[in-house]
Amino acid sequence: MELPVVPAPIPFDGRPGIGDTFGRPLRDLRISVTDRCNFRCTYCMPAEIFGKDFAFLPRALVLSFEEITRTAAAFVDLGVEKLRITGGEPLVRHDLPNLVAMLAGIRRPDGGVVDLTLTTNGSALRVLAGPLRDAGLRRLTVSLDSLDDEVFRAMNGIEFPVARVLDGIAAAQEVGFAPIKVNMVVKRGANESSIVPMARWARDAGIILRFIEYMDVGHSNGWRLDDVVPADEVLATLDAELPLEPAEPNYRGEVAGRWRHRDGGGEIGIIASVSGPFCGDCTRARLSADGKLYTCLFASDGFDVRGLLREGATDDELRAAIASVWRVRRDRYSEERTGQTADLRRVEMFAMGG
Ligand code: SAM
Repeated sequence: MELPVVPAPIPFDGRPGIGDTFGRPLRDLRISVTDRCNFRCTYCMPAEIFGKDFAFLPRALVLSFEEITRTAAAFVDLGVEKLRITGGEPLVRHDLPNLVAMLAGIRRPDGGVVDLTLTTNGSALRVLAGPLRDAGLRRLTVSLDSLDDEVFRAMNGIEFPVARVLDGIAAAQEVGFAPIKVNMVVKRGANESSIVPMARWARDAGIILRFIEYMDVGHSNGWRLDDVVPADEVLATLDAELPLEPAEPNYRGEVAGRWRHRDGGGEIGIIASVSGPFCGDCTRARLSADGKLYTCLFASDGFDVRGLLREGATDDELRAAIASVWRVRRDRYSEERTGQTADLRRVEMFAMGG
């Protein structure tokens, strides 16, 4: 890939770093550590497509912990402040706490620590919450789409019982993760009835719950606009039972709109990726398990970082390549979404890193 040299715009937040074509700084890196997952969520990895014959990445093509850490450190040198480990399901990658320890050791150019977090389906937290915490993980997001066992089993595609995810969340709380965030994808006809029970549970359990609009990521989930429950509808449903008031964003670029319970019992977030796109504030890059750098969740092509690493690139060359990719970035897919864009051949979310 030939990379044109483009002068860097001043990043909009004024802190050191690099900006893209629209001045959006590079602040977050999501690192997918595997394309494998033990769940088959209907909206992400439907079982009828990703069955036992599906060819996941062979081990040799997956970045090693050393390669991931070296790449992450290059991103941090360029201004990244937050690293999120994801997948696939990150907890199915062997020895993940070792990677957490390596990433937790990365320092920013000013000597500060990096905000290191992880997104999981929670199924293995009873075993791994302690080792992850001991390795230096401080924040955790768990995906959970319903408290209703029947609804949850149908959505995760493998009949996984909700009680085991709840037990995983309890395990994480026991070892000191607080507050835990929980993400719930809302899909029409699947789990709208779970919106209010989830909000009540999260409020009582001291959990920050975020509702996510069902997105047209990848090209296998048969996404239709009609299946999206828009943020306004989620809010109205909640407000009718549990009155809410708007809360200020924590920082510019925060993806979730924040709302507080009027009775003072905590907050919820709504990620309106479809009805209220936030491309203008998007500061995220993604590194897939096979070492591709993507500058948009809806991308169909990425830059081959693994090739550079394995050809013996120096740290300077690695940083220069990443900076060149970011500086020419013009992605704003969600703002440009139309009926037709749903048919584009995009990389699957589990492959790119959700
Ligand atoms: N396995 C981990 C987990 O379950 O959190 C990490 C990867 S998963 C792809 C990351 C997040 O993406 C999950 O919260 C999942 O619900 C969400 N997700 C997957 N497909 C989605 C879609 N079509 N629309 C909205 N969110 C989606």
